[in-house]
Amino acid sequence: MSESKKQRIEDSYDVVVIGAGNGGLAATAFLAKKGIKVLCLEQHNLPGGVATSFVRGRFEFETSLHEMASYGPESNKGSIRRMFEDKLKIDTKFVQVPEAFRLITTDPGEEMDVSMPFGVENFVDTIEKEVPGSKKSVENFFKVAEEIGEAFSYIGSMKGRPDQGVLLREHSNFLKTAAYSVTEVENALGIPEKAQKILNAYWAYLGLPMSRMNFTIFAAMTLTYAEIGGWVPTDRSHGYTTAIDAKIREFGGRIEYNTAVDKILVEEGKIIGVETSSGDKIQTNYVISNATQTVVYNQLIYPQSEVPEIAYKDVNARIHGLTGFVLYAGLDASAEELGLKDYGYFIMNNMDTDEIYDSWRKLQAPKGLACTVLNNAVPDCSPPGTCLLNITTLYRPEAWKDVKPEDYVDLKNKLAEELLTKFEKATGTSLRKHIEEIEIATPATFARYAKLYNGIFYGYEPESWDSMVPRLMNMGKDVYIEGLEFAGGFNRRLHGYSSALNDGVMSAQLILQKILQERDKA
Ligand SMILES: Cc1cc2nc3c(=O)[nH]c(=O)nc-3n(C[C@H](O)[C@H](O)[C@H](O)COP(=O)(O)OP(=O)(O)OC[C@H]3O[C@@H](n4cnc5c(N)ncnc54)[C@H](O)[C@@H]3O)c2cc1C
Repeated sequence: MSESKKQRIEDSYDVVVIGAGNGGLAATAFLAKKGIKVLCLEQHNLPGGVATSFVRGRFEFETSLHEMASYGPESNKGSIRRMFEDKLKIDTKFVQVPEAFRLITTDPGEEMDVSMPFGVENFVDTIEKEVPGSKKSVENFFKVAEEIGEAFSYIGSMKGRPDQGVLLREHSNFLKTAAYSVTEVENALGIPEKAQKILNAYWAYLGLPMSRMNFTIFAAMTLTYAEIGGWVPTDRSHGYTTAIDAKIREFGGRIEYNTAVDKILVEEGKIIGVETSSGDKIQTNYVISNATQTVVYNQLIYPQSEVPEIAYKDVNARIHGLTGFVLYAGLDASAEELGLKDYGYFIMNNMDTDEIYDSWRKLQAPKGLACTVLNNAVPDCSPPGTCLLNITTLYRPEAWKDVKPEDYVDLKNKLAEELLTKFEKATGTSLRKHIEEIEIATPATFARYAKLYNGIFYGYEPESWDSMVPRLMNMGKDVYIEGLEFAGGFNRRLHGYSSALNDGVMSAQLILQKILQERDKA
């Protein structure tokens, strides 16, 4: 270790956090605020993981966020707003996006074009207008969703060890629906098929067909959006992630960039330190990893013989979620001039979610996409008379595994062309002659910049047997190496900004508890 390095990073920390994505940042900030000696090591040169921004020409693009759940208005703060404003007091501003979504389906005979407002009542009424007679059943969907939300809060408050009696007495609908898919429960509730199609538009955010998607998670997410809206930062995700970085330093925590962790050192089943790619060894008994379980058990634990069989079994039983492809465009005309009136578009060939999901197994013209026009939420996010567009589609990671380096650029351009055509056709707009800046992100881009395994950003798939409920109930039992915790979109709360942030805090709380118990004993 060089002399200057020795001065920069001390030899020993209470906790080392690997990665400064949403989960890693939240965990580090929580521990630093509690006075724990914490070091966060990030391989990239800025915080956020995929929650960041980049600049091309006169445009600053949002990298990933379409909308944040669990933020909410001042009068009804969600968990993330409470974390940012009340606990961390970070200097940041969020605004609510104007509408829930505009869903356009394009297959002949399946055409639909519905704009959905926020607010549960508005949501129900709009579906009723489209599908007369659906009101009661959609109201019941939201009633069950409310009970599920309350049950999740209760399980969280009990740190994953809820009293079964309380669950049975007070959260019976939660228990009744926990093991079922969205399709099964929506059918049981008698929701008409077309109403299900509209109600299920948010499926693209979870990336699992409704026949396999666990109902509890989907219902809780839909309710959160309908109730307190979707929110975005006014200065891109880079704004709030750098604000968390500043707070961590203010609290006395440490973050080092351009520093990858190559090894998590383990001895007799216990964490003893980490080793960085430059060979520095840092002692610690606690590691919170923002890198996934797949990467940690297969690549980082050293020596590999310290990985218990059960850890491999746990990881191998799970199914990796989706990766994706994003076209970012800076246009030299305003959204209004271009006829782009909405903020968030879901454009699908149809709402047969099994079929669309299946289409993402192949490198072909996308059958489904999500698009945001940031100016319709943050009018001054780009220079006057211009606008920013992010068009995203999803893929199963296997679809990209045989792409040869020499074919990569052509493929990327072809898919971007198809994505743009699909968007223009569905919305009746003509955008390409207005493109001033364009950038494309593929799974390789996410793997490179945020070190995502195979570029996957949808965590492990939340099927009923591996949804948030069993993951939360398993909390504490899934620690296979003493002192090791995970944080982020691959962990117990699933993928997504708010889930990853909340998960970071939860993991930090678990580690803090252990540190305090040890200090009490000493
Ligand atoms: C295009 C796109 C659109 C999305 N849209 C939304 C949306 O609208 N709403 C929403 O809620 N969610 C959305 N998501 C999902 C959401 O962004 C993620 O689930 C969430 O941000 C993941 O956070 P994380 O904590 O797992 O960290 P990640 O973003 O996965 O970051 C992990 C960090 O760890 C670092 N790291 C990894 N290994 C090492 C190592 N060995 N040493 C040092 N550092 C390491 C990486 O460099 C990275 O900074 C989207 C994602 C993408 C890509």
